[in-house]
Amino acid sequence: MNRFDTIAIVDWSGGNDTGPSSKKDAIWIGIERAGDVTTHYMRNRHIAEEFLHQLIRVERDNGRRIFIGFDFPFGYPDGFGRALTGSDNPFALWDWFAEHLQDSPKGNNRFDLAAQINHRFPGVGPFWFNGLAREIEGLPKKDTREGHGMTERRACELQARGAFTCWQMGGTGAVGSQVMTGLPILARLRAAFAGDVAVWPFEPLDAGVAIVEVWPSLIAPAIKAHMSETTIKDEVQVRILARAIASLAPKALSEMLDVPVTAEGWIFGLGHEETLSAAARSQENRLRPPPLRNDCFALPAGVDWTPVDEALSLLRSRLKPVVAEVISNVPAARGRILAQDAVAARANPPHANTAVDGYGFAHGTVSDLAEIRLPLVDGRSAAGVPYLDAVPPGHALRVLTGAAIPDGVDTVVLDEDVTVGQGEIVFRGGLKHGANTRAKGEDIDGGDLILPKGRLLTPADLALLSVAGLGQVAVYDQLRVGVLSTGDELVEAGSEAQAGQIHDANRPMLLAMAERWGFAPVDLGRVGDDRAQLRGKLDQAAGQVDVILTSGGASAGDEDHVSAVLREAGAMQSWRIALKPGRPLALAMWAGVPVFGLPGNPVAAMVCALVFARPAMGLMAGMDWAAPQGFDLPAAFVKRKKPGRREYLRARVRNGQVEVFKSEGSGRVSGLSWAEGLVELGEEEQTITPGDTVRYIPFGSFGL
Ligand code: AMP
Ligand code: MG
Repeated sequence: MNRFDTIAIVDWSGGNDTGPSSKKDAIWIGIERAGDVTTHYMRNRHIAEEFLHQLIRVERDNGRRIFIGFDFPFGYPDGFGRALTGSDNPFALWDWFAEHLQDSPKGNNRFDLAAQINHRFPGVGPFWFNGLAREIEGLPKKDTREGHGMTERRACELQARGAFTCWQMGGTGAVGSQVMTGLPILARLRAAFAGDVAVWPFEPLDAGVAIVEVWPSLIAPAIKAHMSETTIKDEVQVRILARAIASLAPKALSEMLDVPVTAEGWIFGLGHEETLSAAARSQENRLRPPPLRNDCFALPAGVDWTPVDEALSLLRSRLKPVVAEVISNVPAARGRILAQDAVAARANPPHANTAVDGYGFAHGTVSDLAEIRLPLVDGRSAAGVPYLDAVPPGHALRVLTGAAIPDGVDTVVLDEDVTVGQGEIVFRGGLKHGANTRAKGEDIDGGDLILPKGRLLTPADLALLSVAGLGQVAVYDQLRVGVLSTGDELVEAGSEAQAGQIHDANRPMLLAMAERWGFAPVDLGRVGDDRAQLRGKLDQAAGQVDVILTSGGASAGDEDHVSAVLREAGAMQSWRIALKPGRPLALAMWAGVPVFGLPGNPVAAMVCALVFARPAMGLMAGMDWAAPQGFDLPAAFVKRKKPGRREYLRARVRNGQVEVFKSEGSGRVSGLSWAEGLVELGEEEQTITPGDTVRYIPFGSFGL
């Protein structure tokens, strides 16, 4: 009967609650059910225990069998249980710890308990590593143990490379504290669901709940392939392992569960690492899209100057998401991009409720007189504290804003319109049926598609997801955007510049833009005008990021090393775009990673990043194509423009009119700061005089 409907994997923590800022050290639970996986962050063991109880209850109420894997040993080396409890029954040991461990979110007695146990053994005793500042008699800080008579490892740990022993109570990777804090919780779960829980490998798995020892490090390389700098290892581990176990063929699962039964316990999947890793990797393929094609920046032959819109539609047709899908808790999802349509799990409002403080009654049961007098029923309905009975016809009930409307009420009269008497209210007739109430589902209904895949989640979206009953959403991993500056003349902002040197302005600007757009900026530093160095830098970056932005050296001149190096590597296109300020733009693939070679001039670099790099990177990040919203407004300036290319001017709006910066020089960085947006002038020849309508695009429309 080795079939499970739900696989949960728990990454345990023996440490104290250190708050939500250290999520990486907390407990993580990954749950796979019917092809969907969610991950759950638990800031301490108490929350996790409560969560596990509920999880089991819900799964069992719905008739689902659940496999719950915990990543700590279920037993100690042979003979320990007998020495401590007088019995070889592993559960006697579990119960012993449940009785003796005092555990609260801010602290527990695990080190003292280890010392107490040591005293029962000859020599120094088997436990070591006192993680506290104070000395504990009997628990050495260093491994000075001797003469305790216990073996160092369980039989399975002789086979599991790199596993820590359960005697070590602290230090990075140690499991001693996890066992001691974990076993009491397992003991309580067993007791709470007695008869419906079987523990592997001690008992045959013939119950609704299987509790199994797992060790994600068995498939460490497969898990590593899913990690990026922004992911939390424990979260990835539980997600990947849950998915991998869920995808095992019944035969493979049975083979993995078939192990020798001893009081020491065993590690699920030991000896089957290949099969388990292959299952994890096949999930990886499902989650991670294939890379972009090498020819994705090719331009049609014979094209000389490409108009901006044509360049944009080429990018739009060639680029696609390159990032993997992950699960995010809703509160952490702002700025992330939905990887799947979000569908409401619940209606909003979930029940009809009152929009005001007042008195509720049934409209049909009162005659529409000039003055209506209704007796009040006892009690009231408040937000979160509903009135559970029905209100009889011709009666009224006190209701407060947000309160569920009970049976017998469909209309509410506002406090201010009511005179309250002794056990009754009086008000004027003429209220409409349903007045001052909100209907169930009038905002959204359960099952409604509320936000589409590709949506960049805003703060308001988090409110919408929350009211729709969603705690987690599938989002894309953040796109990692590497930013590199090139040029012999550049020195770091803030450092001393010699004659002929200038400070690197593009890198801080582009890194900040990437961050603002919701990507993960990666600072690749600077390189001089040196091709070997540049190649080395691009090679290194390609293993580290999803897209590379360079600035400088992108033209076709002698010192334009970026375009030269990219051209040597093949798969390079110099896009001559009919744009001012902007050209040249070098687009290339370097070891499978797209490179945007932006111009060196900060003004041109910024305009090209806004107009081209942003929507292109948005697509790679899984976002919908982001066309900036512009506004037609009267100009407050004069401008004569030549035909043939599109122009962007640094601009801002004052008194409802568009002003432009006093100079169009593309080195004028002060104009970028002065501006609050751009004026977009089309390709044709134009003369603009004050009052003419121009297209103004605020920086906000470009996501800044
Ligand atoms: P390039 O495209 O390399 O010929 O550079 C064009 C102009 O932009 C030159 O004046 C460069 O000094 C300047 N420039 C290039 N990179 C940067 C940068 N990161 N910060 C500021 N100015 C730059
Ligand atoms: Mg240069």
